[in-house]
Amino acid sequence: MGKRAIIIGAGPAGLTAALEFLKNTDIQPAIYEMSADIGGISKTVIYKGNRIDIGGHRFFSKSDRIMEWWREVFPLQTAPARGDLILDRAANYSKQNYIADPKKADNFFLLRKRLSRIFYLRKFFDYPITLSVNTFLSLGLIRLIRTGISYIWIRLFPLKEEKSLEDFFINRFGRQLYLTFFKDYTEKVWGVACSSIKPEWGAQRIKGLSLSKALLHAIKKIFAKDDSISQKGFETSLIEQFMYPKFGPGQLWEEVAKIIEHKGGEVYLNQKVIGLGVDNGNISYVKIEDQNSGQIKTEYADYFLSTMPVKDLILALETDVPQEVKDVAEGLKYRDFITVGILLNKLKIKNNTKIRTLNNIIPDNWIYVQERDVIMGRIQIFNNWSSYMVKDQDKIWLGLEYFCTEGDIFWSMPNEKIKELAQAELMKIGFMDTADVLDSVVLRMLKTYPAYFGSYERFNEIKDYVSRFSNLFLIGRNGMHRYNNMDHSMMTAIVAVENIKSNTTLKDNIWNVNIEKEYHEEGKRGVNA
Ligand SMILES: Cc1cc2nc3c(=O)[nH]c(=O)nc-3n(C[C@H](O)[C@H](O)[C@H](O)COP(=O)(O)OP(=O)(O)OC[C@H]3O[C@@H](n4cnc5c(N)ncnc54)[C@H](O)[C@@H]3O)c2cc1C
Repeated sequence: MGKRAIIIGAGPAGLTAALEFLKNTDIQPAIYEMSADIGGISKTVIYKGNRIDIGGHRFFSKSDRIMEWWREVFPLQTAPARGDLILDRAANYSKQNYIADPKKADNFFLLRKRLSRIFYLRKFFDYPITLSVNTFLSLGLIRLIRTGISYIWIRLFPLKEEKSLEDFFINRFGRQLYLTFFKDYTEKVWGVACSSIKPEWGAQRIKGLSLSKALLHAIKKIFAKDDSISQKGFETSLIEQFMYPKFGPGQLWEEVAKIIEHKGGEVYLNQKVIGLGVDNGNISYVKIEDQNSGQIKTEYADYFLSTMPVKDLILALETDVPQEVKDVAEGLKYRDFITVGILLNKLKIKNNTKIRTLNNIIPDNWIYVQERDVIMGRIQIFNNWSSYMVKDQDKIWLGLEYFCTEGDIFWSMPNEKIKELAQAELMKIGFMDTADVLDSVVLRMLKTYPAYFGSYERFNEIKDYVSRFSNLFLIGRNGMHRYNNMDHSMMTAIVAVENIKSNTTLKDNIWNVNIEKEYHEEGKRGVNA
């Protein structure tokens, strides 16, 4: 009998691992996924014909290998999609030889220009902040002077030790800019003060970005246009374009699942891993609970790759886990996420940019809501990600994002109340009139953000403990309790399969993904996740 690998979770990391096994080894992969869906956090939900992405997922990576991996699944469009011609996006299509016309077929990546702005003081600000006339006028003279002085001050007298995320921001942007554009949004995301978040989060997500980098980028853009998709010279948060599947990210991951099954791999839905058994110092089986029938079965394998939250994994180990390790696992914290999809007849807020859009709506893919009188964090405009996400072309399909914690006041509100609140907030900030609301839906997603507080500072104790199981591989985002994007999550899977193939027992190279420069996500404020 050949060898077998059990993969826990059918998100990007689990699916990548399965396909890598099938492409490069003779090990048979079987994925067990607890939900009824493929794609994990990167799935796309369909509501009455309109598609919602859980957060707006850009397909972009600094790693050529990942970019090619994606393009092996879906080619990049070579012909204009609906709306491309009037939006002046026709110039940048891939020059490959196949016919890839999104108007005629479905399995394609669209090439999208990024536009995301900050909404603050009921005005739009460029993201990242530029020294434009608009910024000067919108901020006002007093704020501007304060911003300049505080930036110069911090350049002259930087904080010697960065003890928190707050210090990290202040050292790079000055106190005033931090207070204006970073503090509130970041605290909405995490639900705790920036002063109590470890600076590592900033180091992982925004290492390379500072005010000077953002300004340099703006100047570079004037003189050197980079139309390539790889955009090598840009910080990830500053990239100008990204790929996006015609029907949202879930479409790509569903296609990957089909390829896995076609190649002989197994993908089982509604199967929750509730226990992992240990034999002779290694993992030997998983206990799986069928989410429909409640039946429990045991499955054996040679290798185990886990994308389930580390917290759950440790607590599911059926062996004598030291109490300290259990304590760390129990203390790991997460932020959860609620998206409210709102279908509108029209937007009230006008497109005052020179950018042309379908229906002449504001051109942003997403907007950071920095306003203090509302609790929403971001607004996604799905029409601008892909017009194919929206069933009726003349309607506007939004996603309002709320960061919360399971059991808190917001999470505990009934869906109808959440819909009312979301609509009231959207009206308050002048985006719509209530009369234009056609429909709305609430989607809840647990453990979207592994937090860098709680017991996180003792995370190495977990890492050291699990390293004793040479056939257990922790991969992905929650699987490693890392703020990984899809590309990093996939890369951890690729490296794990390579290690298995070459009988490498050390796992440092997996833990180093998203730490080493090549994979480093340098996104201001973790804005794309
Ligand atoms: C709001 C938001 C926006 C984002 N935007 C981007 C972006 O623009 N670009 C980008 O590259 N990335 C983005 N990301 C990150 C991206 O979503 C993740 O990196 C990616 O989905 C992680 O893949 P994963 O497979 O590790 O985990 P997940 O996607 O979380 O998948 C894990 C799977 O495991 C399953 N599972 C959990 N426990 C069990 C169990 N016990 N048994 C069986 N199955 C189990 C879950 O149901 C889930 O399906 C964003 C994330 C968020 C939250």
